[in-house]
Amino acid sequence: MKVAIFGAGIAGLSAALELVDLGYNVEIYEKRKILGGKVSVWKDNDGDSIESGLHIVFGGYEQLQTYLDRVGAGDNYLWKEHSLIYAEPDGKQSLFKKANLPSPWAEVVGGLQADFLTMWDKVSLIKGLYPALAGNEEYFRSQDHMTYSEWHRLRGASENSLQKLWRAIALAMNFIEPNVISARPMLTIFKYFGTDYAATKFAFFRENPGDSMIEPMRRYIQSKGGRIFIDAKLSHFDLNESGSIERAVLSDGHPVEADAYISALPVHNVKKILPKQWLHHNYFSDLYQFTGSPVANCQLWFDKKITDTDNLMFSQGTIFATFADVSITCPNDFQQGTGTATGGSVMSLVLAPAHHLMDMPNEVITEMIMKDIHDRFPKSRHAKLLKSTIVKIPESVYQAVPDVDKFRPDQISPIDNFYLAGDYTYQRYLASMEGAALSGRHVAEKLHVRVGK
Ligand SMILES: Cc1cc2nc3c(=O)[nH]c(=O)nc-3n(C[C@H](O)[C@H](O)[C@H](O)COP(=O)(O)OP(=O)(O)OC[C@H]3O[C@@H](n4cnc5c(N)ncnc54)[C@H](O)[C@@H]3O)c2cc1C
Repeated sequence: MKVAIFGAGIAGLSAALELVDLGYNVEIYEKRKILGGKVSVWKDNDGDSIESGLHIVFGGYEQLQTYLDRVGAGDNYLWKEHSLIYAEPDGKQSLFKKANLPSPWAEVVGGLQADFLTMWDKVSLIKGLYPALAGNEEYFRSQDHMTYSEWHRLRGASENSLQKLWRAIALAMNFIEPNVISARPMLTIFKYFGTDYAATKFAFFRENPGDSMIEPMRRYIQSKGGRIFIDAKLSHFDLNESGSIERAVLSDGHPVEADAYISALPVHNVKKILPKQWLHHNYFSDLYQFTGSPVANCQLWFDKKITDTDNLMFSQGTIFATFADVSITCPNDFQQGTGTATGGSVMSLVLAPAHHLMDMPNEVITEMIMKDIHDRFPKSRHAKLLKSTIVKIPESVYQAVPDVDKFRPDQISPIDNFYLAGDYTYQRYLASMEGAALSGRHVAEKLHVRVGK
């Protein structure tokens, strides 16, 4: 039985992994020349790795880690110290370091020791966030009608903790502000953060997400007979009389015939290929409720080290929200002798919120970034900037705003030979690498049950 998958991000590749293991004849069609979607990495003319975005694996990413083990890449990431590090003006750092105790004591004791929160912040946080720690999925869902800021204030938690601690988390998770993001995903994260010690550890890929994860996935799929076509953009579907898919057609006119078709496209691209005849199904018209978050990633190469922090960092009041010196965190890439790197820092910075940056010239953005870099990393004032790159993604992950979660579609569509995968489809995680991997597993399992191969 032949399955055609469109889109080779983590969702499409995960679906393919499962299906080749189940013995299906799998073909993947990817519109770009590189695989990986939002985690894709390519080399520029200097031989430097350019990442679509800085990516972190969390301890709770069980599905992704299972896949990495399966493709022989289980050793391709490195766990970092278990703490949230906030870069402050003039090179200072504030830490929220988990205590070496079982949850929730690890977080309570760690929180009480955090030096950037006042005692009132800490007391109001523990008291205010209790429903999040005690809550279940049903409670989180019931809070989806309000923004996180509204929820935080209703619970009497302090404004300082909202701005200092949780704003950075909202920007890191979904690239939007706490007064825009729904309370639901934030509460889900607190629950993890406060009850599962291992779930919130961070790991970085040893090299970069492309070489450390996507390449091993590609090799595995092909070794099991899966075929991958690049530069192969899905244009539309031809339908048969019953409204199901007769064939897919690529943008160069090439027809693709299969027994089942999986879209693993981002939601804004799915909307472009949906046949109008399907829109009377709420399942498909609901997809118009999703809007992508704009985000940008900047990489800066310096001739000297400007930090020695081997971890993810957050900051407040800067153009970048989360960042790392990847010459330290990813020890098998960005090293002296690799492209532009001379042994100095290679900062990879996620710029969010980024609505206002999408049409701004890169030189202007880089100047703004450098001002903030000089403020947070004083050593950079004496370092030379060797090179900078900016990747802009106008529609990245869907914005998890209030009342949108209920529109996330199941992987099984009302059309009997059409399925959806992707981080926005329904699974227990927000849009993320783990969410994409879970959607790939769900779509493969559901397809297998439906067609009863
Ligand atoms: C800057 C940034 C930082 C991030 N950091 C993290 C992080 O630290 N941790 C984390 O867990 N998640 C992070 N994410 C989120 C994570 O990258 C995504 O949730 C995940 O990669 C989405 O995977 P996907 O397969 O659903 O979609 P995508 O990765 O978008 O893949 C979809 C694929 O479909 C292809 N496609 C589109 N249209 C067509 C067409 N017509 N025909 C054929 N192919 C098509 C695309 O080219 C793409 O390859 C980050 C995202 C960004 C942008």
